[in-house]
Amino acid sequence: MTPGTDAGTATAFAQAVYVVAALLFVLSLAGLARPTTARRGVTLGIVGMALALGATVLLAAERSERPVGVTLGLALAALVLGGAVGAWRARRVAMTELPQLIAILHSSVGLAAVAVGYNSFLTSGLDGGLDGGPDDDAVHRVEIFLGVLVGAVTLTGSVVAYLKLAARMPSAPLVLPRRNALNLAAVLVALGLLPWFLAADGPAALVPLLLMTLVALALGAHLVAAIGGGDMPVVVSMLNSYSGWAAAAAGFMLGNDLLIVTGALVGASGAILSYLMCRAMNRSFVSVVLGGFGAPTGGPGAGAAAGAGEHREVQVEDVARMLRGARSVVVTPGYGMAVAQAQYPVAELVARLRARGVAVRFGVHPVAGRLPGHMNVLLAEAKVPYDIVLEMDEINDDLAGTDVVLVIGANDTVNPAALEDPGSPIAGMPVLRVWEAGQVVVFKRSMAAGYAGVPNPLFARENTAMLFGDAKEQVEKIVQAL
Ligand code: NDP
Repeated sequence: MTPGTDAGTATAFAQAVYVVAALLFVLSLAGLARPTTARRGVTLGIVGMALALGATVLLAAERSERPVGVTLGLALAALVLGGAVGAWRARRVAMTELPQLIAILHSSVGLAAVAVGYNSFLTSGLDGGLDGGPDDDAVHRVEIFLGVLVGAVTLTGSVVAYLKLAARMPSAPLVLPRRNALNLAAVLVALGLLPWFLAADGPAALVPLLLMTLVALALGAHLVAAIGGGDMPVVVSMLNSYSGWAAAAAGFMLGNDLLIVTGALVGASGAILSYLMCRAMNRSFVSVVLGGFGAPTGGPGAGAAAGAGEHREVQVEDVARMLRGARSVVVTPGYGMAVAQAQYPVAELVARLRARGVAVRFGVHPVAGRLPGHMNVLLAEAKVPYDIVLEMDEINDDLAGTDVVLVIGANDTVNPAALEDPGSPIAGMPVLRVWEAGQVVVFKRSMAAGYAGVPNPLFARENTAMLFGDAKEQVEKIVQAL
């Protein structure tokens, strides 16, 4: 007990603060749902987390019977260390490397859940630990087992996702013989080790725990390795969800209600996001997990537009002329806009066109870029008004009546093969029907394919013109020409 603190007073106080923090987290999530309220959402989340940390220090001091100062010092040391690494990484990361940074951050949640599980097992001699005495608590052991299981799957799954997103590993699905049977067998073996773990006494229980960890690590790596390039958006949100469940499991092991609530919030919102991403790609969650979709024909970005036919190339002046004569323009941004950091000149171009009375809107595909909401973040950064940024479903029917569509660094998300070629690896994925517009200008550097590695017949359409070069430089030149 902390000197000068009544037994249980700190606990009661901390629990009350936890309730407030949990409410702030819910309000934060609600705020993050809309670009206009996102800033407020982030602030509420920061306040909630600061309160939660303060309360946790109090609680830890009371439980460990150490003076609050010592506990605070330990917590601060951990915060400074972790914060320094986080700040260093976040400052260095390029906007285009954000997806892989997020994937690797998910892996640390998995690692933390595994570490908490082992720590909980090794230290809770009273209820479920090494002594295996009469106090051995089966419920606590189940919590440890499931926490380590979810954590280990999240850990290796996220590392493989990181490698795929960073192109350090081919994005093609790994197709092992009977891969679904392998996954099922891994789940059964892992769960089959639970009765042994529960029945084993003392240190002997470490054996099934270690075995299960190995199986779960292999399962996580294989699950994500078996998923093809086109399905990576769902994998990113799925791992986000897993990391939430891993945190919730850690909350159960530590008996920390706030961690359970926070983990459940992340887990549930990640699951909802996965569902929305699946819907955006016209895929069922089960078929994503079973893998194979979007198997690239030549690796991400590798496949050329083979067989797509002849394309027509235009120059900056031609595009400027086209825009001068247009009454309505739609911009469909994609991953290339993030690579080129073209959002600022694009915003400038849009402002100029609007000043001339041209109706300009953006059409954002749900999986454009490499992260859910990637394009929205970039456009908000460049201060594009939210009311002209529309989602795919909101703009698709208007494209036929649009004079000019500017495709800035997008490829898979505007590929007509998804709707017209049942044999295409991305067949069935809803796309922006840009080819229905009067004229289409595609900004990219070469004829290379997009992330899914699929040739794009859009480039050979009669009303499509290619403007080759870095999107930022080309848009800047158009702004000057206008
Ligand atoms: P794509 O990845 O299909 O294509 C991007 C295009 O940008 C490329 O064809 C490339 O062509 C071009 N490009 C790259 N750099 C530049 C530059 N500096 N200037 C101009 N153009 C450039 O992009 P989309 O956004 O259309 O589609 C996203 C893809 O990523 C989908 O397949 C989606 O499934 C996947 N994905 C999405 C995730 C998400 O959560 N949103 C997560 C993981 C994957 P070139 O090299 O010729 O310039």
